[in-house]
Amino acid sequence: MNLSNGIEYLAIPGPSVIPEKVLQAMHRSSPNIYEGELVKLTDNIVPKLCTVARTEGHVAMYIANGHGAWEAALANTADIGDKILVVATGRFGHGWGEIGQKNGLNTTVLDFGTSSTIDLAKLESALKKDKNYKAVLVTHVDTSTSVKNEIAPIRALLNNLNHEALLLVDCIASLACDEFHMDDWGVDVMVAACQKGIMVPPGVSFVFFNQKAKDRQKSLKMVASYWDWDPRINPDYYYKYFGGTAPTHHLYGLDVALDMLLKESIEAVWKRHEVLAKAIWAAIDEWAKGGELKANIQDKKLRSNAVTSLRVNKPNGTLLREWLQENTGLTIGIGLGMATPKDPNGDGFFRLGHMGHVNAQMIMALIATLETAMIAVGVPHGNNAINKAASVIAEL
Ligand SMILES: *Cc1c(COP(=O)(O)O)cnc(C)c1O
Repeated sequence: MNLSNGIEYLAIPGPSVIPEKVLQAMHRSSPNIYEGELVKLTDNIVPKLCTVARTEGHVAMYIANGHGAWEAALANTADIGDKILVVATGRFGHGWGEIGQKNGLNTTVLDFGTSSTIDLAKLESALKKDKNYKAVLVTHVDTSTSVKNEIAPIRALLNNLNHEALLLVDCIASLACDEFHMDDWGVDVMVAACQKGIMVPPGVSFVFFNQKAKDRQKSLKMVASYWDWDPRINPDYYYKYFGGTAPTHHLYGLDVALDMLLKESIEAVWKRHEVLAKAIWAAIDEWAKGGELKANIQDKKLRSNAVTSLRVNKPNGTLLREWLQENTGLTIGIGLGMATPKDPNGDGFFRLGHMGHVNAQMIMALIATLETAMIAVGVPHGNNAINKAASVIAEL
């Protein structure tokens, strides 16, 4: 007997669950890539993306994953040797900085560990100490720790210090899940990818930027040709949108996904993720009362609504994941970046992805199935979690 046959549920922090409508839109013959429907569809995707990002600025699209968008953002904002300040609150913050380092930027890392947000006082003294940083790199939601960093206070800090650094923000995990306002929060460059809140299979990523960033790019000595955002926002030929052949089928999926988000309204999308996250956290609070399990980020105000990182006694994180995978058709995320890959401590972490195309019945199933795994594996836990989670959803 195997109880995992049926619809599989990938509850990891990306790629996320893909809507049937998106898959169906992608399931078609190849379109003309020189003129007609695809060109119009791509032209229309641009303003839709900007609406989701809350910006009146520009967006360049790339056939790449999030790592590509990271590199693109840096290639358009800094020259080799330029100083950048990397603010890390988890593995992804470090990852972006490492790309800068490899590409010859002079990186300084401010590391806030694996379970805290940014300490603004420390950031302030780093910025005061060095006025030459060309960019400050911040991760809105670090998907390894599930911390959510406040962005507007960082802009206020830069403004108060008259610091010229551009504010670059990674919203790969958070866009269309956690509230984000690119223009109102004073973000100069924002990177995102299509396989998380945007609900499309991995393969397309985005760099949003404002006029200030656009002007900065013009002052650089060199911009790598493929990453140059300029032709991508002013394509005189269709192929220049993507610096070559367009990701044809992804674009059909992306168009439908954006329409779904905009039809629901971005505010409603944020709210849905907020309520669903609160249901998960209510369950965690109850589980924690009877045992070892706890959320990585204690303060709920600092948690993302897209992903939750959890701690248990090792090796129970890995045992829970494996049991779920084998017996239930549910896949939950590994504990990324909380320990080095070979360190057995890594077996004491796991993550729940609740980003994108998720609804109340899926999240209630996620909670109940995880509790089932705790019973099967023998992880002690409080007993009222499902009830508390149900109350959050029922009260909404
Ligand atoms: C997923 C993710 C990335 C990396 O994206 P890839 O598509 O895997 O390259 C970067 N930053 C954050 C915050 C992420 O969640």
